[in-house]
Amino acid sequence: MKKVIISKDNIAWPNKCVYCGDVASTEVTLKSKAVQKVGYFVLFVLTTSRIIKIIFPVCKAHKRKAYIASKLSQRNGFNLTLGVLSVFALSGPAGDIYRLVNELPQPEFSLGWRLFMYGFPALYWSLFFWAKSQAPVVIQDLKGEVSFHFKNVAYGEEFEAINS
Ligand SMILES: [Zn+2]
Repeated sequence: MKKVIISKDNIAWPNKCVYCGDVASTEVTLKSKAVQKVGYFVLFVLTTSRIIKIIFPVCKAHKRKAYIASKLSQRNGFNLTLGVLSVFALSGPAGDIYRLVNELPQPEFSLGWRLFMYGFPALYWSLFFWAKSQAPVVIQDLKGEVSFHFKNVAYGEEFEAINS
């Protein structure tokens, strides 16, 4: 992992795929929502934020993977919604355990509802961790500066050299 911090708007990228260093033929747009303040309410979350947008080069073979891994690992509204939904779903298993420990009667949940309560958080979090490990670059907004975490160290070093 190579970390590069940049404080300017015009960022140059080496003309290569961020994953494999092959000739770049297309690009992926990565939007990061830097959440500055989160207010939790009963069933929804209110955020105030600014969005930074980064476009990076990839080869054809890695475009889909780069897009999915970036979208799922980056801080954005899409992820926040899935995350909140999974925490909400987890209240199901938590309630089951609470009732079991306190020997309270278990309510009759439908099979679909049970699948959602147990399956959705498991699926979401495993996808999230897969994406985190596979994302070629993760951006983070640091008030005026943006930090780039490159999975491909050689690429990160070249990126740092042309932007310094
Ligand atoms: Zn590639």
